[in-house]
Amino acid sequence: MPELPEVETIRRQLAPHLEGRTIRAAEILDPRWTRPTPVADVQRGLRGARVERVGRSGKYLVWKLAGDRHLLVHLRMTGALLLDPPADPPHTRVRFELDRGHRLLYVDPRRFGTGHLVTGEAARDAYLAARLGIEPLTPEFTTEHLRWIARGRNAPIKAFVLDQRRIAGVGNIYADEALFRAGIHPLRPAGRLTGAQWARLREAIEAALSAGIEARGATIDDFRHVDGARGSFQDRFLVHRREGEPCPVCGRTIRKLVVAGRGTYVCDGCQPRPRAARRPGVGRAAASPAVAVASPSESPPGPAAAARTPGPRDAARSAAPERRETRRESRVPKP
Ligand SMILES: [Zn+2]
Repeated sequence: MPELPEVETIRRQLAPHLEGRTIRAAEILDPRWTRPTPVADVQRGLRGARVERVGRSGKYLVWKLAGDRHLLVHLRMTGALLLDPPADPPHTRVRFELDRGHRLLYVDPRRFGTGHLVTGEAARDAYLAARLGIEPLTPEFTTEHLRWIARGRNAPIKAFVLDQRRIAGVGNIYADEALFRAGIHPLRPAGRLTGAQWARLREAIEAALSAGIEARGATIDDFRHVDGARGSFQDRFLVHRREGEPCPVCGRTIRKLVVAGRGTYVCDGCQPRPRAARRPGVGRAAASPAVAVASPSESPPGPAAAARTPGPRDAARSAAPERRETRRESRVPKP
């Protein structure tokens, strides 16, 4: 699924070809793209419209059209925009006919992508504000803001980071990469991160997103540039999709678990597990997302917890390395 770096890559490639151009006609072949607005209304609104600017908000491409109209395009899982392809590929959903003989196609095998045409900046901002939280790589993306919106939240930090209404643009790839860079386990409850951890995570989110933009996005399944080329960030993942490989920092084996229903990649050496997730069977790939809910009786994580006097939980904790060994061995393929 395209995330912020992939959508930003599309925006950067599209803007020079689209800004200043006029949409002579838009042929919307799939009514799902504009639902609930009828296709005919959107086609009529786009006909003859001049594109003034191509912007981005979270994972939305925001086309500013003349007359204070705005086309908000979301690629969802498999959407792609292809400029002047030699022929219509399968799953073409929208054809934009531009002036000077150029064509732009929206292609989407899974058909989850959307295009919404709104009039007025207020309508545009309201649409986006209802769906998107704070935008990384902007001055507003501060440690204080993140701490504030996470207060009292027991959801695992990975689920929190994935929630577009809290942080815009971060999806499964960049959440894993950012949590690894920050040394924070994805199951740690969001509301229990320390100020120092939030500062590291804020920085790590921006570093992971910037690395993704630099590599022109990651192509795992369908993501394509406007000329059909692939991104290269998939070759630079630190932990994402690297189950069974050594951690690039400490050499421990990268493991896969399921957090918030998503395949999640961690190094237990660099990302210490929160205590509630150290119980046997918890947080493993086969476990349900419900395990992510932390026990309210959990002790605060971090050095303070390690320094306090031994209690009943410490006995269980001392057995943890042994359990991890067992888990690692159990992953060795049977002959
Ligand atoms: Zn490591």
